[in-house]
Amino acid sequence: MSQVGSTLGRVSLPLPRSLSPSKVASFKDCALAFRYSVIDHLPEPPSAPASKGTLVHRALERLFSQVPAGHRTPAAAMDQLDLAWSDLRFHPEFAGLALDQEAETEFRSDAARLVANYFELEDPNQVRAVGIELMLEAKLGAMRLRGVIDRLDLGPDGELVITDYKTGRAPGIPFENSRLGGVHFYAFLCQQALGRRPARVQLLHLGEPLAIVSVPTPQSIRGLQGRASAVWTAVERACASEDFRPRPSRLCDWCAFQAHCPAFGGELVTAASAGPAPLTTPALPTNPELPTNPALPTPALPTGTHRPAL
Ligand code: SF4
Repeated sequence: MSQVGSTLGRVSLPLPRSLSPSKVASFKDCALAFRYSVIDHLPEPPSAPASKGTLVHRALERLFSQVPAGHRTPAAAMDQLDLAWSDLRFHPEFAGLALDQEAETEFRSDAARLVANYFELEDPNQVRAVGIELMLEAKLGAMRLRGVIDRLDLGPDGELVITDYKTGRAPGIPFENSRLGGVHFYAFLCQQALGRRPARVQLLHLGEPLAIVSVPTPQSIRGLQGRASAVWTAVERACASEDFRPRPSRLCDWCAFQAHCPAFGGELVTAASAGPAPLTTPALPTNPELPTNPALPTPALPTGTHRPAL
């Protein structure tokens, strides 16, 4: 936490260190759930869809880092999925799911379906990946924005292309624009951190499969800056007044905080009143080899980093 302030004699809640696309979406979806997760760090049980997403991301990360172009076949991807499962299966995020044999078989077979669907969307042998699981960060006024880009490629004309894998369901058309907010967020980070606006950002929805491609523009990036600043101002105000209101929606069905939500008859809690802090979940094991590309554009791109600990 970066700051603890005081307003009219009250101790305000600490501000989050940074905003990411998922934190922005979380605050807009429900301020109270955002507070419990991002500010109070209340424990959240592992979720099968999120863990499946981690596994599939890891398999595709390995496909690009461990298998040379020309050999990235569906069979090679399945081998990498098996290796990713071996890497992750005993991590608390996965062990905490407590899958029995039947559920584990279903979990792995659905992950395999998502990896197989990836090949319907692009040929990985034609992709020039120059960064995988790339952590980018930029300052915007008093706020720090950060995000992890699943893959950064060099396109045919040397342009930068950002790819984001999605393992949940694709949004319907009315929601597409709101989900593209994350796309412009990544485009802004790329422009600030690497000095170049990406030519394209593509969301690869592996469930359908479906690719949604967006072309960032100066206007779209300016729009993102305005929206992120507005969210940050709202977060600052909510922290100062300790006023994070519940916003019931269909997302409540998946919310880990119903027991502490007034909209469900629960009582508000704080990190202190919720009891001892949970043990920190260890970081996911890292992938030792990331691709390097001698033809990196100037300025040199940072080396890949891994998805942060969940
Ligand atoms: S149950 Fe719904 S309204 Fe309550 S905190 Fe969770 S998402 Fe928000």
